[in-house]
Amino acid sequence: MKLEIIVLGMVQGVGYRPFVRTQAEKIGLEGLVRNRGGFVHIFASGDEPDLLAFLETLKTMSPPGAHIHDIRVRVREDNLALPKGFSIAPSSESSLFLPILPADIAICEQCAAELASAEDRRYEYPFISCASCGPRYSIFRDIPYDRENIAMSVFEMCPSCRMEYTEEGRRCHAQTISCHDCGPRLSLITIGDRLADRGAYDEAVRYLADGRILSVKGIGGYQLVCRADRPETVEALRRLKRRDRKPFAVMFSAIEEIREICEVSDKESELLESPMRPIVILRPRRHAFSKSVVADSRFLGAFLPSTGLHQMLTSDVGPLVVTSHNLSDDPILYRDEDIPAPSEDSYAAVLTHNRAIDVPLDDSVVRVTCGRVQILRRSRGYVPTPVYLHKELPVAVFAAGGDLKSSFCFASGEFCYPSTSFGDLESLASQTNYAREYERMSRLLGVKPAILAKDLHPDYFAGELLARLTGSSGEPIREPEVEGGVDLPEESAADDSMTDEVMSDDILPTTVAAENTDAAATAEEPSVETPAIPVIGVQHHHAHIASVMAEHNLSSCIGVAFDGTGYGTDGNVWGGEFFHADGVLFTREAYLSNVRIVAGDDILRRPDTIAYCYLAATGEDMRHEDSDLLRAALRNKTLTFKTSSMGRLFDAISAVLEICERSTFEGEAAILLENAAAEAVACEVAPFSLHFAKARDKDEGMPDAAAIVRDIRYAYLAGIDRRALALAFHAAIAETIALECDKIRGKYDESRVALSGGVFANVLLTELTVAALEKQNFTVYMNEAVPCNDGGLALGQAYIASHLAKGV
Ligand SMILES: [Zn+2]
Ligand SMILES: [Zn+2]
Repeated sequence: MKLEIIVLGMVQGVGYRPFVRTQAEKIGLEGLVRNRGGFVHIFASGDEPDLLAFLETLKTMSPPGAHIHDIRVRVREDNLALPKGFSIAPSSESSLFLPILPADIAICEQCAAELASAEDRRYEYPFISCASCGPRYSIFRDIPYDRENIAMSVFEMCPSCRMEYTEEGRRCHAQTISCHDCGPRLSLITIGDRLADRGAYDEAVRYLADGRILSVKGIGGYQLVCRADRPETVEALRRLKRRDRKPFAVMFSAIEEIREICEVSDKESELLESPMRPIVILRPRRHAFSKSVVADSRFLGAFLPSTGLHQMLTSDVGPLVVTSHNLSDDPILYRDEDIPAPSEDSYAAVLTHNRAIDVPLDDSVVRVTCGRVQILRRSRGYVPTPVYLHKELPVAVFAAGGDLKSSFCFASGEFCYPSTSFGDLESLASQTNYAREYERMSRLLGVKPAILAKDLHPDYFAGELLARLTGSSGEPIREPEVEGGVDLPEESAADDSMTDEVMSDDILPTTVAAENTDAAATAEEPSVETPAIPVIGVQHHHAHIASVMAEHNLSSCIGVAFDGTGYGTDGNVWGGEFFHADGVLFTREAYLSNVRIVAGDDILRRPDTIAYCYLAATGEDMRHEDSDLLRAALRNKTLTFKTSSMGRLFDAISAVLEICERSTFEGEAAILLENAAAEAVACEVAPFSLHFAKARDKDEGMPDAAAIVRDIRYAYLAGIDRRALALAFHAAIAETIALECDKIRGKYDESRVALSGGVFANVLLTELTVAALEKQNFTVYMNEAVPCNDGGLALGQAYIASHLAKGV
């Protein structure tokens, strides 16, 4: 009996083919395994019970780093000729399934042990890797994932590595295989000198130990690195990065060191040691580092080394501050030629190597809130792993995302492929990275979107980029006005050629593969001129809620979208929204009352100005250096806008409590307000309770945002502890959410609530809200696969646009 098996999922670049061969040989099957396009293709011949046992193994076992999404099997009844024994056949192309491209995998346990073992031939080899670990997407150029398609292609294997590559073992078909003799080499560029190999490493360790800053070439870009226990060095790093108060993350050599300082739950330790190896935001048990490292944060971002080099550095020097090499808000530098030479007043040296980085990737940031994983930045280790959508999308889509924490996605079939985070698209460098990654992912995935999605905001850079990159033009079709869906040009309708065709005879093993590849490529050529692809404009907060619905397969829900800014369908700036979402349609059920505030480039850094405007809306005045200008602007309604933003309300409260009047990074005022509230709990400050007044002439009796600011200011001026007020404010917001959701439940008989938007990066608010909702028997859903901030917007846009295109 002969079986043809297709394995879909993260199966390339993780040692899956050698794993399959080993299992097949154990059972005594004949056949072959190969990478084909983005999937693994197996032909196996043997007795029926043996084949069934083999299938069972494939379903239940896989090498580390592999994720199996689906296994499709067909019995081959033709005279398929298979080679003797079981072999790994050459890779070939296929466009039948979207590939799942491998993400970078952090150094595995066995490689870490070899790195530390003086007997091993890769002892202290900084670029150690195996079939289960090493860089993947950051050095990836073309599919399939083979040596000639990655940045390792320029390094010719030495005879020992060649042997390991062909023989059974951990490095069988390990595409990143290399050693001291044949792999990438370290060099250290100091002021006026250049050292190589071991000399470079030893000198780098001396520099770090002496308390100096180094620029180090990591997996996804250059990083600025220094000892975490030297406040004066960390202060110098802050000046170098022009980063005032945003906390730094610290890299430790082992999880035990982290446990000594922080509370680490099972879920958190799993994340710390995961192949993604992200920065995990933890609660410290004691303050091990100075304020220069953690600033005012009550948390510590901790992570473990992802490469041999980082493992060696942290073991030899101790805990290190590791941050992307860039100026605050700019994207990470990743090309050798962009790194300025070291100098006395910047960093002491550059520790680099001669392997290229193809995709800039920052370290990812995650935390555990209410027992769930919250991804705050989805980059190295996660990208380009797709998000599984439970249900197939009607048509393939490209969604442009937002402008802040920008990230786009391609989505097709059951998968959404979010890009890395490009930061603020106002920066030209971010736009360049966005455009380059669009070209790359579009080529590697081979998705041909039938529909495009973007934010409703007419001035978003992401919208401009979408038009430029896809060649689409004209006004988007506005999402809320679409009732029966969008008519698609017939040629661009989704290609459903999934299961049946893939099993057809055009896929034959080994020798004929090349010819078939050609045939497949020819058939792929578009025969007619491609018509312009329709663009759908999706409302910002609806996209936030839809991202949760897509992740959790919700057909309907109550949506609570709280963030800083998003363009509303009425032209106002939204941000404190309660929706009822049904399929891809939504109704705005309630929102925080609108307040008029002044516009301006620095408004997000000026909580004091925001507070001024909220108070002015109640007829109150407060001290402000520009009070005359502000008063005139508000009176004449010049350069002002109305907003229901929850983010701005947090800013205003933070300012009237004199917690943060000017911020140095986005969200700082809210973070400090959350800290003050958390302190009220920790220090058992006398509690205070707040009752929000209703907005008189506003929708559905929602609280009056301006009156909240006024009342809290009065209480503060009357002598109530600001920490108690901060906590009371958080609690009252959580109660308001539960109250509003209850009203909406009464109307729609809906008890599922989706929480999304950047405000829910606030742990205390999220905990209080989830508790308040669960107490009232709501089931709460949150983003777990994409960020709840604007980094997750594209998934929601894609989900809505694809379903609207089909006409739900
Ligand atoms: Zn390994
Ligand atoms: Zn070698």
